[in-house]
Order: sequence, then C-alpha cells, then structure tokens
Amino acid sequence: MGMHFLTKLFSTYIGIDLGTANCLIYVRDHGIMLAEPSVVALKVNTREVLAVGSEAKEMMGKTPTNITTVRPMKDGVIANFEVTEDMLRFFIQKAMRQQPWFKRLLHPRVLIAVPSGITEVENRAVKDSAKHAGAGEIILVEEPMAAAVGVGLPVAEPSGSMIVDIGGGTTEVAVISLSGIVEAKSVRVGGDALDEAITQYMRKNHNLLVGALSAERIKIKLGSAYPVKDEQTLDVRGLDIVSRGPKTVRITAEEIRLALQEPVPTISDAVRGTIEHCPPDLLADLVDRGIMLAGGGAMLAGLDKLLTEETGLPVFVSDEPLNAVVKGAGIMLQEDSIWTA
Ligand code: ADP
Ligand code: MG
Repeated sequence: MGMHFLTKLFSTYIGIDLGTANCLIYVRDHGIMLAEPSVVALKVNTREVLAVGSEAKEMMGKTPTNITTVRPMKDGVIANFEVTEDMLRFFIQKAMRQQPWFKRLLHPRVLIAVPSGITEVENRAVKDSAKHAGAGEIILVEEPMAAAVGVGLPVAEPSGSMIVDIGGGTTEVAVISLSGIVEAKSVRVGGDALDEAITQYMRKNHNLLVGALSAERIKIKLGSAYPVKDEQTLDVRGLDIVSRGPKTVRITAEEIRLALQEPVPTISDAVRGTIEHCPPDLLADLVDRGIMLAGGGAMLAGLDKLLTEETGLPVFVSDEPLNAVVKGAGIMLQEDSIWTA
C-alpha cells in the first residue's frame, strides 16, 4: 500500500496521441503540454537529428541535399522505428522538463493511443519505441476509443456512439457501446491523400509543381467536400513545368473541390460501410445521436454536410478536433485501476 502511494506520488502520468501528422502530449494534473508536427529533420549521411516537431516541419521541402525531413509515422503506422523513437524521446523529455524534479526520478507512465487496425507486431513496435524513448509502464489504447472519450461521447452506456477520426494518414471509424468497439474500420486515406490529390490536380491542370506544405495550405484555405457559401479564390505560387520558371495561378474553391473528389469518397465509403455492419439496435441509437467527427480532417469545409447526405444521419464536428484523442488519453489515464501499482 505504502509503496503504491509513493509510486503514484512520484510518477508522471502522460497520455500521448502519436499521430501521423501531429504528436500531442497530455500530462496528468496539467493538461495538454505539447502539440507538434510528427516530423524529424536529419543529417543525411550521419542520421544525426537536427530538429524535431514544428522546427523540422518548417524545413520540409526547403532542405539542402545533406539534410532530409522524415515523417516517421507517415502511413498510419510506424514507418521508421528509429526516427519514431528519436521523436518520442524528444517530445517526452520536452514534456517532462516542465515537471518538478521529484517527478523526474522515475520513468513516466505512458498511455498511448494507437490506430485500431494495427497488428500485434506494430503494437509491439510502438511499445518498444516508447520504452527506448524513456517510458516506464506503457499502456496502449485504441485511438477511436480515446477520441470518443475526448469529445465526450457516452462510451460506457449500452447504446451506440459513432466516432470518425480523420487524421493525416488514416481515417478511423468506430461504433462504441459499453466501453468497447463494436464495429470499426480503418482506411489509409486522410489529410495527406487530400494534399496529394491537390498536388496532382495542380500539375495536371495548371502545369504547376507545388510542394507538400503548399498543397496542405491550399486545402486548409480553400478545400471543401461540399459547396460552401462565399467561395474564395487563392493565388498559388509554384514551378511551371513547361517554362521551368516560377508561376502564380489563381485557383477557385470549386476546382479544389473537384480535385478532392477522388480521395473524399474513400472516407464516406468507410463511414457507410461501418454503418452497414452495425447491429440494428445500435444503428437506431445512431439515428438519434448522429456521427461525431474528430481529427484535423474533420475541419474540411462541408465534410459534415456531405456525410449527412451520404448516410442520412446527423453529423457533428467536435470542438477542437485536433485535440480529441489526446484529451481522451488524458481522461483515460486518470483511471487508477489501469496501472499496475
Ligand atoms: P494525425 O492524428 O494523423 O496526426 P491530425 O488529427 O493531427 O492527424 O490531423 C492532421 C490533418 O488535418 C492534416 O492532414 C491537416 O492538413 C489536416 N487539417 C488541419 N486543419 C485542417 C482544416 N482546417 N481543413 C482540412 N484539413 C485540415
Ligand atoms: Mg489522430
């Protein structure tokens, strides 16, 4: 008993959303202490880490030949173990630095949200990375569950709640009841695929090469899944493929919507597919409750409207969709019974 009390007193409990686009850390009793892009800048020949997070993301597409930027979580799973570990270590240490000294004596207890579709091997890899990055006890939770808890859905009730988490690399759809996932689907289409579709559209239709960061900016400023009011235009700068010189092109919201018509249906099909497999009694709950959207992709203009049209269910965008998973992790780690002592 006394030991347990001391372990609890001296331990730092942190919740991590190890996303493909962003990594967020919640520290118990403090709140969200870190939110940074999941990007690492490395020296090409020595693999020495030069920058992590926001600083590394700013370097994307602008590096000289001896520096490279890596997104170690690119496709919804750990694509590069070594770099993921470096990144996690950097972020965990950054979050821990703000803790009082006596909380830094023990390895932090870490709860990590991972995609629901990942394999046992991939689970192991996340745990190993976290361990090497300085974590003590590690608990993995399914990301859609964390997201549902984070946005305040009544997950413990014997009734259906549906969460759709649209991240950078994946879209995770889940129906939850009695604190468990009843039906889930994960597709490897998220914000990155939308950026890629914009890059291709600009190349094919305007002979313009734009970088990944520009494509993301275009999506955030102008992108939509459904016609919206007061549509804007945007001047996009890039490299003209024909003249090999710089060029500026004015694009419309309608054009970008057209570009997104390729990847967006994969998201709505995943939602529809999950609904089709949902037990009828839970489906009846969804008709009342609707669908909750989380993750950065939830902010794509008109996506809620499109999904309403495609499913016939009410669709809501959560407050602070980027923070849904980490907030849920922060709530879940409060539960004393999940930790060994
Ligand atoms: P992950 O969980 O994979 O790290 P996030 O939930 O952090 O992903 O979401 C990141 C994605 O959300 C990126 O692809 C980003 O471009 C996209 N995003 C952020 N804001 C917007 C917006 N306003 N409209 C559309 N997409 C957005
Ligand atoms: Mg996420």
